[in-house]
Amino acid sequence: MNTIEEQGYTFQEWLMPDQIAKDVQQVADQISTDYKDKEPLFVVVLNGAFVFAADLIRALKDVRCEQTFIRVSSYWGMSSTGQLEFIVPLQQVVDNRDVIIVEDIVDSGLTIHQLKAHMRGLGATSVRVATMLFKPNKLEYDDARPDYVGREISDEFVIGYGLDFDGFLRNLPSIYKVKEGTK
Ligand code: 5GP
Repeated sequence: MNTIEEQGYTFQEWLMPDQIAKDVQQVADQISTDYKDKEPLFVVVLNGAFVFAADLIRALKDVRCEQTFIRVSSYWGMSSTGQLEFIVPLQQVVDNRDVIIVEDIVDSGLTIHQLKAHMRGLGATSVRVATMLFKPNKLEYDDARPDYVGREISDEFVIGYGLDFDGFLRNLPSIYKVKEGTK
């Protein structure tokens, strides 16, 4: 098993590319079954989800679909609820569309909670969520529970396959977990 050193932390290889490919295919197969007679619009959440999304859409079978991108940042203002800042706003009409939001990882669920409300407000017919990783123990918003999950993970920090550490290491083909007690 490979390890990577970054800023005093040690990351241990956890999911290798062949395992990731199996997880992605299983998600793609479920979506292919559920959307075979529909024309879903995949809304890919930048930056992290671009790697998963690229593999996912190519693993679909007989699904006529479109893709668009959005980039958001969650912040906590004066109100008690988190607000979403749209860094790259939605470029495509979602009115009357079956939307599938694509995320790299769902943690507290705040991003998905807000994005789902946003899509519904814009008139989407349906909104579902596909994510490569899901931390069920961290979920704070029940409506953000993802519909399609590559793999569940406990409360650990991971990098690679689109997931970054301070903007870097997204390009690693495997997924790595931070080793406890490092730094
Ligand atoms: P949420 O809104 O669900 O709390 O957070 C989701 C976002 O937090 C993800 O899209 C990702 O950017 C970031 N995030 C959460 N957990 C991790 C992690 O273990 N590693 C990395 N690199 N980012 C994470």
